[in-house]
Amino acid sequence: MSLLAVKDISKQYEKDKQVLSGVSFEVERGEFISIIGPSGAGKSTLLRCINRMVNISNGKIVFQDVDVMSLNKRGLRKHRTQIGMIFQHYNLVSRLTVIENVLHGRLGYKTTFQGVLSRFTEEEKADAFALLDKLGMKEHAYKRCDQLSGGQKQRVGIARALIQHPQILLCDEPIASLDPNASKVIMDYLQRISKEMNITCIVNLHQVDVAKRYSDRIIGLNSGQVVYNGTPDRLTSNV
Ligand code: ADP
Ligand code: ADP
Repeated sequence: MSLLAVKDISKQYEKDKQVLSGVSFEVERGEFISIIGPSGAGKSTLLRCINRMVNISNGKIVFQDVDVMSLNKRGLRKHRTQIGMIFQHYNLVSRLTVIENVLHGRLGYKTTFQGVLSRFTEEEKADAFALLDKLGMKEHAYKRCDQLSGGQKQRVGIARALIQHPQILLCDEPIASLDPNASKVIMDYLQRISKEMNITCIVNLHQVDVAKRYSDRIIGLNSGQVVYNGTPDRLTSNV
């Protein structure tokens, strides 16, 4: 049994415009997978289908034996705690501190931000500090997020995604706004987290060289279809 199975899914936002068509693949626990493909290929949509921020039009997504489309509101909430999300533009709350942003990952997105810290137990706070420590950000815990560099912001984004102790991290172009040095730092952290915490990473990337260096497996997407699914060494330049 694989952790996640995407079975022949398709997605249309608008009539007659197929954004994903016949996409199928399976993902095992702890795997590090990159999804590569040009802008508009459907990478972002695919990740949003997996955590059901977007509903698929056809096909099936099965996560840990559960059909994701069959989930009710409560089931969906649980599903999303098992799937952390990381974004290109970090999506932090800039006027909150680092530690507040990390803890905010426990609340979901529809809550108010007042008195965030006081809502959590000492144990929950200790967990957040431990994650910041793992990402080399503990010393910045009380800085406001708008005082951080892009690379630092993304490390906070990773800690926030990890606070629910998810099975999968979905990373949507996590290094697209970063310079090469900061990109390497972020990719190294993602790889380490995947190995040490046995977390599956699915990372959208447009840099093929980065995908080749870090991934167990690469899935190539073009015009909403899978054009490659295999190890990095067999990937040819025409994908
Ligand atoms: P990628 O991440 O590979 O750049 P996306 O999934 O963002 O691809 O986009 C794939 C296609 O779907 C594009 O043509 C884009 O314009 C379209 N698209 C994405 N989101 C929406 C939306 N919410 N409504 C309508 N079209 C969308
Ligand atoms: P680092 O110091 O980690 O390399 P930078 O702060 O230099 O990161 O940011 C890298 C790139 O991301 C720069 O081009 C910068 O303009 C851009 N960037 C940084 N923060 C943001 C943000 N909040 N929104 C959009 N782009 C940003």
